[in-house]
Formats: sequence, C-alpha cells, structure tokens
Amino acid sequence: MSRTQNSEDLFARARAIIPGGVNSPVRAFGAVGGTPRFMASGQGPYLTDVDGNRYVDLVCSWGPMILGHRHPAVIDAVSSALSHSLSYGTATPGEVELAEEIVARVAPVEKVRLVSSGTEATMSAVRLARGFTGRSKVVKFAGCYHGHVDALLASAGSGVVTFGLPDTPGVTGASAADTIVLPYNDIGAVEQAFASAENDGRIACVITEACPANMGVVPPLDGFNARLRELCTANGALLIMDEVLTGFRVSAAGWYGLDPVDADLMTFGKVMGGGLPTAAFGGRADVMSCLAPEGPVYQAGTLSGNPLACAAGLATLRALDAGSYARVDAAALAVGQAASDALTAAGVPHRLQRAGSLFSVFFTDAPVTNFDDARAQNTSAFTAFFHAMLDRGVYLPPSAYEAWFLSASHDDESLDRVADALPAAAKAAAAVL
Ligand SMILES: *Cc1c(COP(=O)(O)O)cnc(C)c1O
Repeated sequence: MSRTQNSEDLFARARAIIPGGVNSPVRAFGAVGGTPRFMASGQGPYLTDVDGNRYVDLVCSWGPMILGHRHPAVIDAVSSALSHSLSYGTATPGEVELAEEIVARVAPVEKVRLVSSGTEATMSAVRLARGFTGRSKVVKFAGCYHGHVDALLASAGSGVVTFGLPDTPGVTGASAADTIVLPYNDIGAVEQAFASAENDGRIACVITEACPANMGVVPPLDGFNARLRELCTANGALLIMDEVLTGFRVSAAGWYGLDPVDADLMTFGKVMGGGLPTAAFGGRADVMSCLAPEGPVYQAGTLSGNPLACAAGLATLRALDAGSYARVDAAALAVGQAASDALTAAGVPHRLQRAGSLFSVFFTDAPVTNFDDARAQNTSAFTAFFHAMLDRGVYLPPSAYEAWFLSASHDDESLDRVADALPAAAKAAAAVL
C-alpha cells in the first residue's frame, strides 16, 4: 500500500470548501472509493502525487496529454507565448494558425470558432444548428456525453453514468423537452423519430459522438454514421459529430480520418488544447457564417482563443506526426491485449472493445453496442481491479465507464510496469466475482 497521507489531508481540506472535494465529479473516486490522489507533477507517461508515489498514467488528462507530460515542444511554445502576455482580449496570430491547422486536417470543417471547453463547443453547435434551421428539437443518444449542456445531459455517459445520476436536477423540463434520447446504434429508432408526425419539420440536429467513448468504448456499427448522414440530409436536419474526445487522437483527422462521414458541424477539445483549456466547433461555411458577428446567432468568450492555450494546442498538433500516432496505437494495442490476457487467465468475464487507439474493458462477457449493454457490467470487479492497479503504480480512469488513454510517450519501461501489475489486479477482480 502506498503512502497517501498528503492526499488524504488535501482531500479533507478540499471537501470542506469544494463540493465533493473536486472540480469535476469523476476525480473524487466516488465510484471506486478510497482517497483520490492529488497530483504534483508529470513527466512523459508518469504522474507523481503529493506523497511522492509514481504512477504510469493511463488517463492522460482524459485525452489531451497525447504526447505525454512536459513534451519539450509544447513546453517551449507555451513558455514563449508566456513571455509576451497571458491574454489580450483581442485577435492574435496563434488563433489563426490553430484554426488553419484544424481546417487543413478535417475536410468538413470550412470555418471554425475557438471556445474554452468541449461543453461550450457542443452547446454553441446546438444553438447554431437551431438558429440555422429555425427548428428546436435535438436528437441525442443514450450513453453519449457532450459535456454538461442542459439539453444534452439526459441519459449521458461519463460522470453522469459513473454516479448513476438520474435526469439531473436543475435542468428544467423546458430545456429537456426538446431533447429526443434514442438508443445508440439503433438506426431504426432514428428513422422512427424522423418519421413521427410530432417531430415533422422540428428536428434541428442529430448530435452524436463520432465514436462513443464516454460509456466505455462503443464503436458505431458499420454504416451507422453514414446512415445518420443520409437521414439528416433527407429531413433537413444538421448532423453534429462530437469529436471532443476522438479529434486528433485516433488519427491526424480524428475519427473522421477512420470513418469519413461528412458532418455539418463538428466539435473538438481535449487534444487540440494540449492540456490547456481550448476547444472548437466548426463545419460548413454557410452554417458557421450564421455566427455573430457575421450572422445573428450569438456566441462569445472572454478567454476564447487564449494565446497560451493556442500555443499549447498548435505545438501539440504539429508534434503529432505519423510516428507519434503509431506509438499511441502500438501502446494501446499492447495494454489492451495485456489487460485482456490477464483477465482471461484469472477467469474474469470481460470484453475488450477497441476503436483505433481507443479502448476500454467492460466487466461483462456480452457484446456492448449501447448504453444498456454497458450498464450491465460488474462494476465491483472493476473497483477491485482499479485499486490493485493503483497500489501497483498504474493510474487507471476511476470509473468502469471510461476509456483508457495512452500517449506517444508510453515507452517499453512504462508498458512493462503496466504488464507487471495486471496479473495481481486480475486476481483481485476474480476474488470479488
Ligand atoms: C470531454 C467531452 C466533452 C466535454 O468537454 P469539456 O472540455 O469537459 O467540457 C464533450 N464531448 C465529448 C465527446 C467529450 O468526451
């Protein structure tokens, strides 16, 4: 057992003044119990907590640290931006470069607007879709997470499912009333929603994770995204592909690079900020031109396009060459396989689901194609597994409903540490079956 006194002390202080002691729910370890580790530093694939424990990082800040911690190119770019000023509230060159980088990589994005979080990106994209179409209804899928936007929290993944929250208090009936929640991967349900008289001419957009990874990794069935495209086009609705998690992670062009279905609008975050708060939404020029100041749909942000965040994001995207993606892919392949092998050897029913370099392990033996399947897993087996890994110096996402994240900095040494920890963790999971 590692020493955790400093984390315990900080958590006690935090809980007195910050709800749950954290600024984002999953960090509190609520689903797995125990003391959340307060981190002090990171280097490459490793984290060091305030008690001096070192971990192989399989969270990577939930995606952004795709180059590992303190990558020299990113640190240099931020240091250089830092020496000029932190923020101006004016247009800056870095924003243009970051926007050009995104437009160059993702074909459906003709124009892009920078914001500060993925939540802001999806919220703004939905507002824009409603403004552009003059319609009010939004179709989303159960288990997909699009940030904590009121209208999109219904049956959401990520922390909402981790804590088993019902429809979140504070979201009014009015803001949820225009949200139609459908089962993921069920194209018949989407066809029915469009066909129903009640929705006729009223659906502004369908929003989906390009490849869902917030209920665990649940890839779209073959042709699912393409069929969404057809149905939206046929019915005058916009298709919004949320690539906040997959964007620039699974390939240079994100999920679009693997499954090129043209969306009308797309959202990005995580990797594109390289660890600082920046995100974006973009898409068809005619739709994006409806945004203020070009058009009537209002959207703004004091720190939007912040120069440090743009510098970190741009440096990250530019450093991500084919070799980096190959290293992320290889590391993800190795860790996923090693985890699955260890669980099989210990007799733990599980299912490894992959989508490019994304993967997650479900503690169930049935295929997982939607949210109900995902929720059928044995989360107590995950809890035992999680703590055994943590005790052995591997920091996994503290929830059974999250993807595991690798980086280009995960080298043989760090992957060996993960492999060494797995057999005992698999036995710990087996012991609670
Ligand atoms: C993380 C995430 C968001 C929300 O982004 P924040 O920066 O946390 O607001 C939205 N959509 C998806 C698919 C995500 O994974």
